[in-house]
Amino acid sequence: MNPIFSALPTTIFETMSRLAREHQAVNLGQGFPDDPGPEDVRRKAAQAVIEGWNQYPPMMGLPELRQATATHFRHWQGLELDPEAEVMITSGATEAIAGALMAIVSPGDEVVLFEPMYDAYLPLVRRAGGIPKFVTLTPPHFGLSEEALAKAFSPKTRVVLFNNPLNPTATNFSEADLDLLASFCVRHDAVAICDDVWEHVVFDGHRHQPLMSRPGMRERTVKISSAGKIFSLTGWKVGMVMAAPKLMRVLAKAHQYITFTTPPNLQAAVAYGLGKADGYFEGMRADFQRSRDRFAGGLSDLGFSVLPSAGTYFLNVDIAPLGQSDDVAFCQRLVAEHGVAAIPVSAFYAEGAVRNVVRFCFAKHDATLDKALERLAALRVRA
Ligand code: GLN
Repeated sequence: MNPIFSALPTTIFETMSRLAREHQAVNLGQGFPDDPGPEDVRRKAAQAVIEGWNQYPPMMGLPELRQATATHFRHWQGLELDPEAEVMITSGATEAIAGALMAIVSPGDEVVLFEPMYDAYLPLVRRAGGIPKFVTLTPPHFGLSEEALAKAFSPKTRVVLFNNPLNPTATNFSEADLDLLASFCVRHDAVAICDDVWEHVVFDGHRHQPLMSRPGMRERTVKISSAGKIFSLTGWKVGMVMAAPKLMRVLAKAHQYITFTTPPNLQAAVAYGLGKADGYFEGMRADFQRSRDRFAGGLSDLGFSVLPSAGTYFLNVDIAPLGQSDDVAFCQRLVAEHGVAAIPVSAFYAEGAVRNVVRFCFAKHDATLDKALERLAALRVRA
């Protein structure tokens, strides 16, 4: 067996969802919305299955989805993309990330990772032969510093894998952070693989700024977006990849031998959805922001120390003020004794020693959030 995978535990998301089922807990662990997603987009997918083409679509994606992707990101992020040469559709953002690492990294290349990081990154980097170099981000701000970047980058840096907004910290990197990172990428001639899946789930009037549009980055960025996150349909696994032709040609080679194509009905529905009026996207953000505020307010009222959430489906709680210093043990007790599942953020660190932060998913109906708050109230009383 390959030791990188044989030594891996089951993902923390599966583990916590299983515990949630076992203990009939409110599941605020794995990040998925209670809401079923926009009905018109789901109807398009259903209609396309019945009336449309269900054989292999083109390897690079349906032409109408590649065009809709280019149009959507020109409108929302000011990017100018050639749908023929610079857009590809994958079976989810995770396929796109795996494919990009396989296509760009050669054994011995260094890959800069920002921890806490999404759990798939590190095994995929290692399997591609990359040597991980970590930038450790710490609460409460999880911001970049020139000093930390200078330590992680070297003449061997080939790739930077960057997630913004960042899961699990729910931070948006500032424009100054983006410019700083861009300057390091340019200086070290590195490619940025940008996991931008949370780009539409941002709050408080913020607009996502893609690293791709910072000076010097257009030709050296692989931008990865996710229909699952844009339309609250996390099971769909439709990813949109954007990159300059020179990079895209190689990314396409990886994609053609990983999944080759992505279900055509879902692609047709996403092409339709990306063209929806601004109001849909603004409404989606406003709904999640309202849920964030309801849950954050409830937690604060109970005396929990809530960290800011600028985007994603998540908010974090600092458990140190509760006298807790082991997030894993805390989450195990929380699910077993109090019936609420959450995610220990230490699961997203490889090197850093942050053990006092716990992530909750607030992308839920009010009744779900209120039930969780009721159960957490009992915890506070006993703490
Ligand atoms: N993206 C989801 C989260 O962060 C997890 C997806 C998965 O279970 N792999 O909760």
